[in-house]
Amino acid sequence: MAASGKLASLRLPPLPTVGELIKLYNLRAEKQLSQNFLLDLRLTDKIVRQAGSLRDAHVCEVGPGPGGLTRSILKGGAVDLLVVEKDSRFIPGLKLLSEAAPGRLRIVHGDILNYRIDRGFPANISKPWEEDPPNLHIIGNLPFSVSTPLIIKWLENIANRTGPFVYGRTQLTLTFQKEVVQRLTASTGSKQRSRLSIMAQYLCNVRNCFTIPGQAFVPKPQVDVGVVHFTPLVTPQIQQPFKLVEKVVRNIFQYRRKYCHKGVEKLFPEACRMELTQEMMEKADVDPTLRPTELTIPHIRALADAYAHLCSQEPSLLSYEFREELRMKRLTRQINTPMDSFTGT
Ligand code: SAM
Repeated sequence: MAASGKLASLRLPPLPTVGELIKLYNLRAEKQLSQNFLLDLRLTDKIVRQAGSLRDAHVCEVGPGPGGLTRSILKGGAVDLLVVEKDSRFIPGLKLLSEAAPGRLRIVHGDILNYRIDRGFPANISKPWEEDPPNLHIIGNLPFSVSTPLIIKWLENIANRTGPFVYGRTQLTLTFQKEVVQRLTASTGSKQRSRLSIMAQYLCNVRNCFTIPGQAFVPKPQVDVGVVHFTPLVTPQIQQPFKLVEKVVRNIFQYRRKYCHKGVEKLFPEACRMELTQEMMEKADVDPTLRPTELTIPHIRALADAYAHLCSQEPSLLSYEFREELRMKRLTRQINTPMDSFTGT
């Protein structure tokens, strides 16, 4: 009886449909903001189910827009839903939803790229990192131009246990363009294996949940969309600072079709390049003729550990950037080129 009473209290009273709300507030999708709305509440329910049970959960929804996903999160049992929406046109519709779910929906008019989620929820929901994740979820159907930089920022936050991860191993359920989903979840040897695959998978358990057909969105986007669920790992598979791992992976993948030693070489200044590359490859015990896409996370871990060791012996290596050296060389060449060669005289 008590349980069914609680369920009834989570149910929303009759509301205009999301489609009616869009008409009511004249919420035309802004093409330049890549706004594609989900109006099918069975589909938004399905996205929300990927997060697991939301009973009594705290949730941050990014980009609620007209509120389809928002309704499903409330229906899923969240007791404290904080939505962060950049476009002010959606705020009145969200307020209507907030009145229908008293005390359960907080609205922030702002940009998720700057919003401090670490201050958005009570500290007492935190769970020690080694324990189960806290009852806090981040869920969102964002424009692709935002979701990719955001996941990179959040991966760094996971490594440093900052931002949404001050509460513990907060889980994320987010949509991405299908190609990005393939990169995020690509395994060793696959064509889509990339920087993003390594950076996401060394820190998280990454699950490709399902693909949403383009026609489910209004307006229909040019690309297919996938839902991905991330659970931060208790122990990251690589135990080096995020920036160092990112640098090693970036250098290796800049020559994704070549042997991996070619990218490793670019971690070192020209004067000591060959010698230190050989030392790093030997210390890591990685076959230098493997292609970047063939490297496993243990391979990358061994390479990052070997690079960290070399940097501990020669700290100036850490700030060396091959592209910066190239840029400086080009600049010097231009400065030293006689004016004649520019004028063609
Ligand atoms: N969640 C809604 C849905 O599924 O129908 C809307 C999805 S629409 C693809 C993306 C939403 O994110 C829009 O409402 C847009 O205004 C919002 N948005 C875009 N950039 C944002 C940002 N940086 N911070 C917060 N919201 C943002």
